Amino acid sequence: MPPCRRRIQVTGIVQGVGFRPFVYNLAREFKLTGFVNNHSAGVTIEAEGEPEALVLFERELAARHPPLAVIDEITSLEIVPGGDRSFVIQASATAAWESTPVSPDIATCDDCLRELNDPADRRFAYPFINCTNCGPRFTIIRDLPYDRPATTMAAFSMCSHCNAEYHDPRNRRFHAQPNACPVCGPSVAMNSLPQARSRLAKGEILAVKGIGGFHLVCDATNEGALNRLRERKNRFEQPFAVMARDLDAVRRFAEVADEEARLLTGRQRPIVLLRKSAHGVLSELVAPGNGYVGVMLPYSPLHHLLLGENPLVMTSANPSGEPIVRENDEAFTRLSSIADAFLTHNRDIEVVCDDSVVRTFEGWEMPLRRSRGYAPFPVRWRRQTPSILAVGAELKSTFCITRQPFAYVSQHIGDMGTLETQQAFEKALNHMLTLFRVEPERVICDLHPGYQSSQWAEQFAKLRGVPLLKVQHHHAHVASLLADAELPFETPMIGITFDGTGYGTDGAIWGGEVLIVRGLEFERFAHLQYVPLAGGDESVRTPGRAALSHLHAGGISWDADLPCVNHFSSIELGVLSRQLERKLNCVLSSSMGRLFDAVASLLGVRQRVNYEGQAAIELEFLASTGTPRSYPTSIAEGEPVIIDPAPTLRLILEDLHASIPKQDIAAGFHEAVANWILSISVLARERKNLNVVGLSGGVFQNMLLLKRTTYLLRKSGFKVVVHRAIPPNDGGLSLGQAALASLFD
Ligand code: ZN
Ligand code: ZN
Ligand code: FE
Repeated sequence: MPPCRRRIQVTGIVQGVGFRPFVYNLAREFKLTGFVNNHSAGVTIEAEGEPEALVLFERELAARHPPLAVIDEITSLEIVPGGDRSFVIQASATAAWESTPVSPDIATCDDCLRELNDPADRRFAYPFINCTNCGPRFTIIRDLPYDRPATTMAAFSMCSHCNAEYHDPRNRRFHAQPNACPVCGPSVAMNSLPQARSRLAKGEILAVKGIGGFHLVCDATNEGALNRLRERKNRFEQPFAVMARDLDAVRRFAEVADEEARLLTGRQRPIVLLRKSAHGVLSELVAPGNGYVGVMLPYSPLHHLLLGENPLVMTSANPSGEPIVRENDEAFTRLSSIADAFLTHNRDIEVVCDDSVVRTFEGWEMPLRRSRGYAPFPVRWRRQTPSILAVGAELKSTFCITRQPFAYVSQHIGDMGTLETQQAFEKALNHMLTLFRVEPERVICDLHPGYQSSQWAEQFAKLRGVPLLKVQHHHAHVASLLADAELPFETPMIGITFDGTGYGTDGAIWGGEVLIVRGLEFERFAHLQYVPLAGGDESVRTPGRAALSHLHAGGISWDADLPCVNHFSSIELGVLSRQLERKLNCVLSSSMGRLFDAVASLLGVRQRVNYEGQAAIELEFLASTGTPRSYPTSIAEGEPVIIDPAPTLRLILEDLHASIPKQDIAAGFHEAVANWILSISVLARERKNLNVVGLSGGVFQNMLLLKRTTYLLRKSGFKVVVHRAIPPNDGGLSLGQAALASLFD
């Protein structure tokens, strides 16, 4: 039979993941000739041979691809045979306008680990070992196509040994761009690893350069070291993440369910929020007063070499509110007052990427912070729209850029309130615009006039002469669910969006919202009763204030035995009471986040927080150990429907006076909120003929609430949409904004 030739185009994540050698070996297996090449839009293959062999080749291409590759589409076309003698891998061809996804950074694979621990291997104990299936990617890539000269590895030229591996299609390191060895690759200063280990054992604090930035590191079992770290960082209660050698080491201080073990050992290596065990080896200062601890396993060879018996604190090295430190010089100047010593190396980090944080929900991972290991993995974007830039919110900020057929949500950027973060935002944005060849044709931001991100977007739009769109915060939360679930953006939905703060269309602070969303239209179907919050931002930091505001609004007296009343002096109470009475310096708020704070305060959990969400997470932990009290819910069926929390608060106070266990009250409050959601959803179903309920907003980082709510809703026949790929908090907002921007004409 005469030979046949096909041109096959593969799109998806097919660069930097060993796709070309895979194709090469597959072609040889089926005795095909032709070529494969990489270009910015994906991979092109021309294969020639027996027609049956070609059919099998195409089938296996889709079925057997390398672990890190994600195929979006394979198209194939018969063309005229060319009579090639062999199958070759061609050098990369670049077309300036083409774009393709880039692999996130991947944890050290088992094959590399084996070599790392093998005294006979030439990379024994080499802190930068990697291969086609593992190693840094996103954080070292400067431009596409993904080839060594376009990465921060350009500075190192391969020795003959490495070079031979790199050019051998049967080798695991064939075209592994960061390929290196002790002879030719990056290095840490001589003898500094053993030194680092002994310094850590002595209780010293180290600044360690990792994949996406520097960490501050110390022995997580050493009280003295943690005391010093907290003092020098000026952070007294913010929980620190820890890194342990392996799962057995984690089990010495935390409970690990099967799903959590799977996430901990997965190639993304996020921080997984685990329940602390009762008599663990961790110092209480790692996560003071917190029932949970964030844990990760080593993800770079350097970590594997650094970790001993004891778990280590591994906290992002960033002076409060500022982005994570990236460059060596920067580390020496900015961290010298915190770290006793530095463990650095000479491979540059092109762009910072914090550790990701996840929890588990129904056997899935629920991202709380989506960054290293995940970003810039795209979300599918099936809409034919101009390129969009969505700038996100203010805290936990991310941005999102779109280019058919993908939407790329950035790594975690942080709190846009500081100049340094805004600069980091611009750097990350320029990096991604370059990588993905995006020229934004429209920009979208939050309605909030005070957000730095909105002001930045205004400038950008003016400078580039592109239209600027603005959307309401909670509307964008609902849209983020649709995009996350890959549902059409016009899908009508009952959107439950509970969070801390979002600017409302009436100028008030929203946050306990039920929106009926139909594409660009939304109706505020229900909300938590407005409460004047004394001192606005100050009540965010002080749950005690939120509690007093709620009591005042509900006409409940400030009894002297309440922890929130106790917390303030009589003078302060007098000022607060006058403020609330006259509505001076008060903001109207329907925030569900503040209601959780208020209940945490009433139960004596916390009157003042040191980081956002602290009171709520402690309340959730308390509730998770209780048997729920039953609190009837009260809803006023007007337009909009109003959720009045006062009757529930009264019952909580009665229970407190009756010395009912606090964990039962906390559990009862969670149950009450879940029931509010159910009652309102039932009303919305009757009135609006809708059956899809979406749950978004920072309050749904609370797994107890999420679990109870989804259970009740499903039992009543609702289809429930929750987040899977992006966080429910404001870190996912940019994707929702982009979804809405795509609907504008
Ligand atoms: Zn490897
Ligand atoms: Zn080498
Ligand atoms: Fe929000």
